[in-house]
Amino acid sequence: MLVITDLVKQYRTGTRALSGVNLKVNEPQVVAIIGSSGAGKSTLIRCINRLVEPTSGKIILNDLDVTALPRHGLRSARRRMGMIFQEYNLVERLTVMENALSGRLGYVSFWRAYWRKYPPGDVAMAYELLDRVGLKGYENTRADELSGGQRQRVGIARALMQRPELLLVDEPTASLDPKTSRQIMRLLCELAHEKGTPALVNIHDVGLAQTFADRIIGLAGGKVAFDGTPDKLTPAVLTEIYGEEDWSKTIGEVKGRETQAHKKDQESLKRESAAG
Ligand code: ADP
Repeated sequence: MLVITDLVKQYRTGTRALSGVNLKVNEPQVVAIIGSSGAGKSTLIRCINRLVEPTSGKIILNDLDVTALPRHGLRSARRRMGMIFQEYNLVERLTVMENALSGRLGYVSFWRAYWRKYPPGDVAMAYELLDRVGLKGYENTRADELSGGQRQRVGIARALMQRPELLLVDEPTASLDPKTSRQIMRLLCELAHEKGTPALVNIHDVGLAQTFADRIIGLAGGKVAFDGTPDKLTPAVLTEIYGEEDWSKTIGEVKGRETQAHKKDQESLKRESAAG
C-alpha cells in the first residue's frame, strides 16, 4: 500500500529533518508516529503528499510513485490521500455540509463547485458520513459555531469524502481536551478500519497512541528508532525514542484493553450529541 524508502529531507536552513526513513504499510492499519518535538514527525507526514518536498528517497502509494510526480500531477495524487489537520482547516463561514462536500473538490468541476452543485451521490455520502461522525442535525450549522471536537469530526468526514487510499493525520488532538481527544482518536481508528484505509497519525501523546493505534513508529533524530505493536513500547524503547526519563507511569492501557472505557465514552458521546 505505502512504501517509503530512504526518505531524506533537508530544509534550506540546513536542518536535516529526515535522515533516511524506511517504512512499509501493507495493511489497513492505524500507524501512530511518535517522537520528541523536532523528531521529524510532521515533516514525514507532509513529505508523503509533498506539502514538503523530499530531498531524496522514494514514496510509493499503491501504483503511484509520489516522488516522481511533476508538480502539475500533485493535485490528482493529493486527492488519493485524505489529510486531517491539528487546526481542522475548515472554511469557517461555510456550513458543516459544505465543508464536508469540499472533500470532493478534487473530483467535481470548478463550476459545479462554484455553484455548489455537487452530484446527488456526493451529497448522500456527506449525509451518511456526517451521521457516522456524530454530526447528524448539524449539516446546516456554520463551522465557526462548532466546538473543537465537532470541528475535527467535520475534518474527518471531509477527508473521507475523498475516498482516500491513505489518511495522513497531523496532530489531530493537539488542540482538544483529554476526553475529546480520546473520542476523536477512537472515531478516527474505527473509521480507518471500517473503510479499510490505512492511516498515519502524527501524535505526541504516547498514551493515546498506545491505546488506539495498531502499530507505533518512534522517530528520533529523523530516523525510525522503533517500529512495532503498542505492547512492545517498553520504558527502554521510550528512552531510546525520547531520552532518559521515568517511563513507568506513562505506559498505560494498550489497545484491546479499553473496552470499558469505550462503552463509557460511547454513552457520553450519545448524551453530548443529544444535548447538542
Ligand atoms: P516534529 O513534527 O516531530 O515536531 P518537524 O517535522 O516539525 O518535527 O521538524 C523536524 C525538524 O525540522 C526540526 O528541527 C524543525 O525545526 C525543522 N523544520 C521543520 N519545518 C521546517 C522548515 N519549514 N524550515 C526549516 N526547518 C524546519
